[in-house]
Amino acid sequence: MYDPLELSEKVERIVASGEKRKYYRFRPAFYYGGIATADCVGCCLRCLFCWSWHIVTQSGNVGRFYSPEEVARNLTSIARKKGFKQIRISGNEPTLHRSHLLKVLEFIPKEIRFILETNGILIGHDPSYAKELSRFPHLYVRVSLKGVCHEDFTQLTGAKPEGFNLQLRALENLIEKSVDCFPAVMADFSSQEEIKKLRHRLKEIRQDFYDFEEEELILYPFVEENLKKKGFIIKDAKLRHNHKSQLGQE
Ligand code: SF4
Repeated sequence: MYDPLELSEKVERIVASGEKRKYYRFRPAFYYGGIATADCVGCCLRCLFCWSWHIVTQSGNVGRFYSPEEVARNLTSIARKKGFKQIRISGNEPTLHRSHLLKVLEFIPKEIRFILETNGILIGHDPSYAKELSRFPHLYVRVSLKGVCHEDFTQLTGAKPEGFNLQLRALENLIEKSVDCFPAVMADFSSQEEIKKLRHRLKEIRQDFYDFEEEELILYPFVEENLKKKGFIIKDAKLRHNHKSQLGQE
């Protein structure tokens, strides 16, 4: 079992260099009705169903370092060419290397919405992160909870159970600083009873969080294998056996 905060420091040493951060791809994507997407390298969790954190350790050194200006320029250019009104950083965890992310946000034109997809660990750990994010009115934060309780969180991520609290605290910190946000939850493996408990817990943070977004698990063969090894019972996950090269997946 690992501490995601310690891991974030280790990974950051690999994926950050001065103001630059590593990315492996810039692309238009169909999510949210069309969005310009930058895929970054490096995460502070190790989810069983995720392939992307592996690329930090892949030989051949995936990706290269980009300055905040370059990231913003690439994203804005894709958005303008495609007529998109939204931009995001995805692929791994965008909140690693905080000063880089904040600079990217400064360079993104205010008429374009920035969707920050995060596991919430770093925002939950340090309330000043939410305060800094509150400077950007064009920002929307989607906090993706891994499981519905401490136990699920540890089983799905291999991280210490306290990490689940950090995810919830991220939502609290963001609300506290009036940052637009909403939870998404990977609940495919959880009992109805546990899901209901989480709904009530989230409702205490904000009324409409009761109806959180449910994240869909895509059951790639490696995911299925990892989950079975851990004894998970998969109920309604979407099957996809047409397994493309991992870096080519959406
Ligand atoms: S938090 Fe997201 S990027 Fe990180 S390992 Fe989990 S699914 Fe992958």
